[in-house]
Amino acid sequence: LVAVTPYTNLVHVFTSGFNVAIAPVKPMGKLNTPFSLAKMAEAGTYEAPPSARRSSDFSPLQLLALDACTNCGRCQEVCPAYASGRDLSPRVVVQDLGRDMRGNEGVDVFTKGVIRETELWACTMCNACVSACPVFIDQVDYIVDYRRTLVSENRLDGKKRLFLENIARNNNPFGLPQRERQSWLVDMGVPTVKQNPGAEYLYWVGCQSSYDPRGRNVARAMVKILKAARVNFAILGNDELCTGEPVRRMGEEGRFQELALKNIESIRRAGVKKVIVHCAHCFNTFLNEYPEFGAEFQVIHHTQLISELIRSGRLRVGGLDQRVTYHDPCNLGRMNGVLDAPREVLKSAAGLELLEMRRTGLNSFCCGGGGANVWYQVPERKKIGVIRMEEAKETGANILSVACPFCITMFEDAMKTTGDTQLLVKDIAEVVSETLTE
Ligand code: SF4
Ligand code: SF4
Repeated sequence: LVAVTPYTNLVHVFTSGFNVAIAPVKPMGKLNTPFSLAKMAEAGTYEAPPSARRSSDFSPLQLLALDACTNCGRCQEVCPAYASGRDLSPRVVVQDLGRDMRGNEGVDVFTKGVIRETELWACTMCNACVSACPVFIDQVDYIVDYRRTLVSENRLDGKKRLFLENIARNNNPFGLPQRERQSWLVDMGVPTVKQNPGAEYLYWVGCQSSYDPRGRNVARAMVKILKAARVNFAILGNDELCTGEPVRRMGEEGRFQELALKNIESIRRAGVKKVIVHCAHCFNTFLNEYPEFGAEFQVIHHTQLISELIRSGRLRVGGLDQRVTYHDPCNLGRMNGVLDAPREVLKSAAGLELLEMRRTGLNSFCCGGGGANVWYQVPERKKIGVIRMEEAKETGANILSVACPFCITMFEDAMKTTGDTQLLVKDIAEVVSETLTE
């Protein structure tokens, strides 16, 4: 039996233990880096390495991981895409690739139907599967590698193409002019780093809160809090570009690295060492992905800063007689372990009753907006945001608080879909700012 096992589907009996021992240790929220744009520029070559087309086109460690899958189904149980009826099960992706790798090396997985494009686009990159896998398989890495292939061959629908064109032309997903990014904040008296060169903190506003009218309300709330606590801060102004988080997750690695290098240089030139960010996606990318490209600043999520301001007595939160539940954004909770700060902030409001959802903390369920999903549509039986909103309603809360502008977009969209009126969706900064006396 021992002699024939490597050639049977029992091979995982050996490889699963081996994979647990040697699986690369990297932050959960960090995607693999297939090439370095900076090194390519130094070498004078702009030819990216060929993208993955076969199941054998992965690194030796990724190939070993495919063999290690025990088909236990834990990843499928927690997958929001699977729960919503989308064409994706991470278990099936890993099993199909493993089977193909053992039997048909050299065959194109797309033309052979081992991988379907709909499977790849259905993933929200919430990392619930990665977190649940007992043998440390990183399912997201295979998905993003194949997405890179689709992007490099321009196999994109209109929405995805428009998203990438907008970023290429205007450095934001909306395709709006750069000068509109933060002129409205400057009109409110918020200083840029040029106007306040001694700022202790850089407040990173992010595309969603720079351009989207609903997102802007979160930035307004943050500015009110920062001013109330007398925080010495400034914004980058029109030098701020998209962090590239959704660009990378859509599979456009070159554009992501270009944005990262430019943003890192702008922050370095501004001379600030601490960056406050209220978007959980920007937070994860700054924290886990930018250091590889030279970032040296400290990244602070706004819930962490607000919590610290309250603890040190610089911010006095008023009362709020409401029942509130809190949704942990995947990029903040599961991927980066920021669980206590948001709850401490909410509990600081006198009269506020904090009610936890069934799936919470590290086991939180996605809002449906990650993996660039907010920028395109995926066929599904029930929206991921609706599933999560129903869990929030079960708590009896009347406010669904979040800590990421993309969660707001997804939950407000879910409410429009169902016509629900029980819940108001608010960022924690909005909850706090509404309790502050002017
Ligand atoms: S990252 Fe999330 S959506 Fe994607 S396969 Fe894993 S559990 Fe499913
Ligand atoms: S959780 Fe891991 S071992 Fe289990 S089916 Fe999914 S990929 Fe395979």
